[in-house]
This record gives sequence, C-alpha cells and structure tokens, in this order.
Amino acid sequence: MIMSNTEQTLSIIKPDAVERSLDNEIKEMFKNKGFLIVKEKKIQIEKSEAEKFYKVHETKPFYNDLCAYLSSGPIVVMILERENAVSGNRDLMGATNPNDAEEGTIRKKYGISIDKNSVHGSDSVENAKIEIDFFFKD
Ligand code: UDP
Ligand code: MG
Repeated sequence: MIMSNTEQTLSIIKPDAVERSLDNEIKEMFKNKGFLIVKEKKIQIEKSEAEKFYKVHETKPFYNDLCAYLSSGPIVVMILERENAVSGNRDLMGATNPNDAEEGTIRKKYGISIDKNSVHGSDSVENAKIEIDFFFKD
C-alpha cells in the first residue's frame, strides 16, 4: 500500500532576507526540494501582531527584540505543501543559530545571526494549522 502524507506548513522569509532581496533565491530552494508554494504574500506587520504570532515565546528574554524585529520590515509569508512538509521544511531551514546549521540549509547559506536567521517555519502539524490561519484566514 502506498502511504502519502501531504501536509501544509507556514514559512516566513524574515526581514533580514527580504531586505537583501533573497526571497526569490529562498523560494527556489523550497521548489527544488519539492515544495509547492500554495499561497504567498509580501506584507509588513504591526509589532502587536508579531507579539500574537510569537506568543509561545512571551516569557523568553528575547521576546521583545524578536517581535520588534519581525515587524521591522517587509516579510514574505507562504503556505508550503509537500509530503511531510513540516519536518521537511525544518530540515531545509537548518538550526535556529546559523552557526550550528548544516551545509545546504537556508540558515547556513543566508542567516546572519540567531535573531536574523532569514526564515521561520512551523514546528508541528498542529502549529502549522494555527499559523496558516493566523496569516491566511479570511
Ligand atoms: N531567537 C533569538 N534568540 C534566541 C532564540 C531564538 O533571537 O536565543 C529568535 C530566532 O529568530 C528564532 C525565533 O526567536 O528563529 C524563534 O525561536 P525558536 O526557538 O522557535 O526557533 P525556530 O523555531 O525559529 O528555529
Ligand atoms: Mg519556533
């Protein structure tokens, strides 16, 4: 029996990457790994929206800077679809700190620092649904 597990996940190209005009190169990396970009939009969000989006991190010392940063410039928000999209996207992104990211990952290639690490990706199927709704529910 052939088992398929098509999933969707939320990806964000963060301000540091959009600012350097890396969005098309990063989108190519997704497509080359078999991801379909189902929906996408380039937007800039308010700090209050970033605070909602990153609420799980509200007790962390980096929370305020993180929310200020995500709302500091344009971002590209995408719904990516593929087999095992959630874990596949995390693999392609690489470690949170670009210094620890493996060769061939987006963060290794483009990340500047742990805060300016170029991309966000949902960390579970459940959170992917919540994050997709956050940006694309209309
Ligand atoms: N972050 C940070 N300092 C830290 C840890 C995280 O600035 O010490 C930022 C970083 O940009 C990261 C985001 O907070 O992407 C969310 O953290 P998380 O642990 O969820 O990492 P991710 O899921 O993005 O790899
Ligand atoms: Mg995370």
